[in-house]
Amino acid sequence: MRITTHIYVVGSEQFGLSHPLDCNCYLIDGGTDLALIDAGLGLGVEDICAHVRRDGFDPARISKVIITHAHLGHWGGAPHFRDMYGAKVWVSTLGAERLRTLNDPGLGMNRRFNRYPQDFIPRPCPVDGEIRDGDRLVIGAIELQAIHVQGHTKDSICFLMSEDGNRALFSGDTVFYGGRIGLLNMEGCDLDDYRRDIHKLADLSIDMLLPGHGVFVLSRGQKHINRAIRKLSDFVLPESFFEMNEFMWDREYLQILNQ
Ligand SMILES: [Zn+2]
Repeated sequence: MRITTHIYVVGSEQFGLSHPLDCNCYLIDGGTDLALIDAGLGLGVEDICAHVRRDGFDPARISKVIITHAHLGHWGGAPHFRDMYGAKVWVSTLGAERLRTLNDPGLGMNRRFNRYPQDFIPRPCPVDGEIRDGDRLVIGAIELQAIHVQGHTKDSICFLMSEDGNRALFSGDTVFYGGRIGLLNMEGCDLDDYRRDIHKLADLSIDMLLPGHGVFVLSRGQKHINRAIRKLSDFVLPESFFEMNEFMWDREYLQILNQ
């Protein structure tokens, strides 16, 4: 699903594009080179590839799979693209160890609540490139700048991109539509981190806000970020995207979608 000149949504639960436990997966067309931002849980990779083809591209041209953070719903599909097409997997230095060792606190929680199909066996993923704050990643004619913003997890990276004079932010689970944030009751999620690092996203003049779940916006993205910054500076807990969307992990909901 093409959303801008160079960006496509090729996987997602909320847009009905792939598996119900998949995050939003974005394809970037850099001309000579393609990259995937996040790869979903792993159960939706065939659908993701089908959408890549439907949008006119050969999945074998995806040279980089860039992971926003090491939660399985964002990277579990990465080994498929690495094995099938030789794509290089890029993730933050902090996240790399989690991919290599399958160390994801959400994995145990989801297993405990039986959210995965019986036959689902997540695979660890070798990492080809480690990303640090301020690094630049090149995808053909497109350049991404990494901004390390802790809060949702210790390893969360947002990616800034310019296109046709507009500025896009791939925000992972750090900030969502309406200024909601990725607050979870889970190891690694930390409000102190959020309060300290969210200011890295101030004054970026973002047009397109492209989060890891739910609605993306193609203009006035910065106002959503600014609302998150304001909420994180006040007394009351900011609204969490996941509080409004916890049905996503409801067994009944998952079963309905799996039928
Ligand atoms: Zn997450």
